[in-house]
Amino acid sequence: MAQIDTLPPLADVIAENQLSAKKSLGQNFLLDLNLTAKIARQAGSLTDCDVLEIGPGPGGLTRGLLAEGARRVLAIEKDPRCGPVLDQISAAYPDRLSYVIGDALDVNPLEHLTPPIRIAANLPYNVGTELLVRWLTPPEWPPFWSSLTLMFQREVAMRIVAEPGSKAYGRLAVLAQWRADTRIAMSLPPEAFTPAPKVHSAVVHLTALPKPRFEADAKVLSRVVAAGFNQRRKMLRASLKGVAPDIEDRLIAAGIKPTERAETVGLEQFCALARAVAAG
Ligand code: SAM
Repeated sequence: MAQIDTLPPLADVIAENQLSAKKSLGQNFLLDLNLTAKIARQAGSLTDCDVLEIGPGPGGLTRGLLAEGARRVLAIEKDPRCGPVLDQISAAYPDRLSYVIGDALDVNPLEHLTPPIRIAANLPYNVGTELLVRWLTPPEWPPFWSSLTLMFQREVAMRIVAEPGSKAYGRLAVLAQWRADTRIAMSLPPEAFTPAPKVHSAVVHLTALPKPRFEADAKVLSRVVAAGFNQRRKMLRASLKGVAPDIEDRLIAAGIKPTERAETVGLEQFCALARAVAAG
């Protein structure tokens, strides 16, 4: 195991602090510091950035982010047992790590960090998707973050980067790719984690675009995409009936065949449709 700092190995940290993994908190820990350093490197250059980490747990990724030179890290962790572990890391990196014990869904990171801000996390699946959707749908664009480096179940990661016409293509792909560049940065087998989850995982890296790729009102686009994919097997003229009474005309105006299904409609076409719907 790599020595990236003067702190004890993660297995010892877990044993000393009795951090037995809790299923209810989705705890699957990464104990290989080589691996956590590699994930931290996927976040890009950290030296001029503050980093928001969600769910540091025993701190493997936190240590990676600090060793990679993050200006400052704010870690938000729900499990109070992690407090002493984070204190120990904070002592090894004076003035660079602060943490909040609480639910990431309730904490406003902007009270603690200064832009540019990168976000990095290895999170439980349900919280991860909810946070991703939040980060992708702020009231204004560009958002407070410049990049997201997030571990997901591989199946969810594939949905974020999916292309039209594929099974994984849906709301998450449109939402993410409309305003960010997305790529799979790493794939990880279950054995990389302790305890090992049932499924494979992947790290997705998203870089916020300065402005959306195509013009559209965020709320209208979101409504059109949700309606289209909620009934993805139906033709758009049927699935989007509730969006506008004359939806067939609007689909045609956007250059989309009313008999198409949402899964074959690309991002640019969805944005054209959102504009046609918003045209009143
Ligand atoms: N980052 C550590 C690692 O890679 O070894 C831990 C990853 S583990 C998959 C997920 C972490 O998120 C756990 O430490 C868990 O306690 C924490 N967590 C779960 N739900 C959370 C929430 N709503 N807010 C903040 N942290 C949460």
